Amino acid sequence: MLIILEPDVTPQQKNAILSVLREGNAIYREITDAGQNIIGATGTAGHDPAYFEKMAGVARVVPVETAFKLVSRQLHPEDSRVMVGDVSVGGERIVVIAGPCAVEGRERTMAIAKDVRRYGAVLFRGGAFKPRTSPYSFQGMGEEGLKILAEVKQVYGMPVVTEITTPAQADLIMKYVDVVQIGARNMQNFELLKSVGRLGKPVLLKRGLSATIEEWLMSAEYILAEGNDKVILCERGIRTFEPYTRNTLDLSAIPVIKKLTHLPVIIDPSHATGSREKVSPMARAAIAAGADGLMIEVHNDPDSATSDGAQSLYPAQFGQLMRDLYVIAPLVDKQVDFGYLDKASNVVHTVRSDGEKGRKAAFLGDVGSFSHKACLQFFGNQVKPLPVDSFRGLFEAVKTEASDFGVVPLENSLAGSVHENYDLLLEYDLRIVGEITLRIRHNLIGHPGTKVADIRRIYSHPQVFQQCRQFLERHGDWDLVSVTDTARAVRNISEKNDKTEAAIAGRESAEIFGMTLLEESIETNPMNFTRFVIIGRESLKNGSGKKSSMVFSTGNQPGALFGVLKIFADNQINLVKLESRPIHGKPWEYMFYVDLEVDMEKPDFAGVQKQLSGSVEYLKILGSY
Ligand code: PEP
Ligand code: MN
Repeated sequence: MLIILEPDVTPQQKNAILSVLREGNAIYREITDAGQNIIGATGTAGHDPAYFEKMAGVARVVPVETAFKLVSRQLHPEDSRVMVGDVSVGGERIVVIAGPCAVEGRERTMAIAKDVRRYGAVLFRGGAFKPRTSPYSFQGMGEEGLKILAEVKQVYGMPVVTEITTPAQADLIMKYVDVVQIGARNMQNFELLKSVGRLGKPVLLKRGLSATIEEWLMSAEYILAEGNDKVILCERGIRTFEPYTRNTLDLSAIPVIKKLTHLPVIIDPSHATGSREKVSPMARAAIAAGADGLMIEVHNDPDSATSDGAQSLYPAQFGQLMRDLYVIAPLVDKQVDFGYLDKASNVVHTVRSDGEKGRKAAFLGDVGSFSHKACLQFFGNQVKPLPVDSFRGLFEAVKTEASDFGVVPLENSLAGSVHENYDLLLEYDLRIVGEITLRIRHNLIGHPGTKVADIRRIYSHPQVFQQCRQFLERHGDWDLVSVTDTARAVRNISEKNDKTEAAIAGRESAEIFGMTLLEESIETNPMNFTRFVIIGRESLKNGSGKKSSMVFSTGNQPGALFGVLKIFADNQINLVKLESRPIHGKPWEYMFYVDLEVDMEKPDFAGVQKQLSGSVEYLKILGSY
């Protein structure tokens, strides 16, 4: 049972509750969770929950049927985020922890760190105290190793994860490390669990070699019961009878964990499979199954690694895996963000010219719209979203510094380009600083209890009606009402209690406005993606520079466009998008918008830029990002 106390509970009221529990021989613990004061008790001390609910100072009582209480989703219905520096484990962005099994020396570790950082890892791992099966195997570099990890953090900005094997290492761990790992062999070392609970640092808790999910969660409960709720669960394979797969990676634990607990869960395919060729397939599957992140062993010379060389990816293989995850993540409503750490230092920790702390990002529509979601997925939850009501308003907000960034939908894979925004990109002197792709899933949304047969009127954005054409054709008698964005559509129906009206929008807006999904995924084609660009007044420092966008016009003579495209071809520059738009006031003349897979602003491309300038009438680089 969880007794949630009123925020203004007095010490006397609290003592009265505790003495009832003591008299009834209940084992209880006082805890705080998300700022709430809670008393967790085993049993009910001979009273029913209603008895406690009536006591002064009690807000509500939650009976918890499971053996684990603090980790249970019943206590904390929202997903928890474990913050490690600027990195949120749990949330919209996938967190990849990478590095060698063990810290083996300064040069090697720094070289591996440089590689994994470049390929998109956000946390670095490396063991300094290694729990080895054989006492004759390398046991780790100890404090020397921790010092190297601290240097990795300082040079590359990646917070570091390392394993603790005894409470005696607590002081050293506190000094050098950001996340403390409890290894599989120590999952039920209860003194160690209590000790990391008291350290208060984020804990990565591996599942034991033959632990049930409930045993694993009970171990997490030990850490939370000491007052530390920063626990990340890590599945790393369990012992079964099958030798070919080394351990059996229990990916089915992901949905189970997501249902039972609010804690984030990551997957370690390296220790699960023990061999390099199995790591990437399992990593891809883990992200598709809904994991919040991965822990991957990477080594630049695995044949000479002191431990786990056979399961360590080469840096280039890790890079390839990250590219695959970048494609997979949007399918399950997440993102791989190659600019994660740089964004944190350049965007989150800056002060606006008006003195306000933190940056603002403008998006079109209401909270819960797809643009809002794109904003959250690009920046995480550390930038303030600013709703605006038109695309021009969005560009104006960035120009006038009312906002630092703007989230601009440019094209949809089913409905095509958002032409207005192409024109605004040309008109305003702003930069494209990033891009993000969302999978767009539409749902029919109404008040709880609405019957599809009773619906007469539907609200949504006109593009959404196009994307759901087949579904809407089956309901030809519905009246379609266009509004500015999908969240506004849901707000409209939520403000009236009319069960003949419904909206088409994403799941998030239904949750925000307390509506239900009457039918899910009603878009005609599930390959429905929208690409947004992020605009700002200046480029982000250390942007990934994987892509550049530019706009140009040519003279009206034979082969003019061919001449420009030939420059790209001759310089081996891959063109990934070409779009033309009429030039206002000059009928039948066009601007060409191109996206290129290079960083056009690097000095190496100065020659190409010069060639281009000689072949076009007008040229504007919109940004490299
Ligand atoms: C490790 O992560 O290096 C490790 C030893 O893992 P596990 O405890 O899962 O075997
Ligand atoms: Mn290892």
